[in-house]
Amino acid sequence: MFQWFALKTYSPFLAHCQLFPSRCLACGTPCDRADWCTPCRARLPWVEGNRCPQCAARHSAYGLCGQCQTQPPAFTACVPALAYRPPIDQYIRALKYRSQLLYARLCGELLVHAVQNHFDLAPAPQPECIIPVPLHSRRLCRRGFNQALEIARPVARRFGLPIDYHCLKRIRATQAQTHLSPRDRASNVKGAFLIHRQPPYKRVALIDDVMTTGHTANEIAHCLKRAGVEKIEVWVVARAG
Ligand SMILES: [Zn+2]
Ligand SMILES: [Zn+2]
Repeated sequence: MFQWFALKTYSPFLAHCQLFPSRCLACGTPCDRADWCTPCRARLPWVEGNRCPQCAARHSAYGLCGQCQTQPPAFTACVPALAYRPPIDQYIRALKYRSQLLYARLCGELLVHAVQNHFDLAPAPQPECIIPVPLHSRRLCRRGFNQALEIARPVARRFGLPIDYHCLKRIRATQAQTHLSPRDRASNVKGAFLIHRQPPYKRVALIDDVMTTGHTANEIAHCLKRAGVEKIEVWVVARAG
């Protein structure tokens, strides 16, 4: 069943062909040219409730969270599409660890929806380019692709933005952040990135699959600011926390 969905998702011809009507990825109900039926799409874990406007962490009041008030990150805003909960966590794991690239297209399109809402709510000059969070060369060789770059492609196409995959490099292989304490996460990514080519931009959007504490995005934003970038937004498919 899964491979059947995968085949349709890869092939626009099959997905839109009358002989093979689209089916909802979650419940299998036939639905016209969509990945989910309307009820299943509404049940996705969209971000909701009070969120810090800078780091997008959930908190109980309006305005900046305590962390952003005392130690603001170097990025201006985090724009998450969804909360890191089922089924989005499963989609992202399938993409990263089982190379199911169809989820990059799905995640990218969900991110397009969030970024469009962000532009509608707060009209401001758009970023001049998209920078996907780079992988270390060893991890890139092992995985064969960078999930952030694959997620960035539909977003770049929709908003007509170039992707710059060469200005930033990850020069140190870091441990997965998942099982580290907040303090260890900060030191884990400290000095892990390097400006490889001077970015000729003032405004950029950094794209990643998941943001947990924001230490990785913050470290990169500091690097970009030192290189002359003034405004960095972080666009992520899923926000944990
Ligand atoms: Zn459904
Ligand atoms: Zn915050």
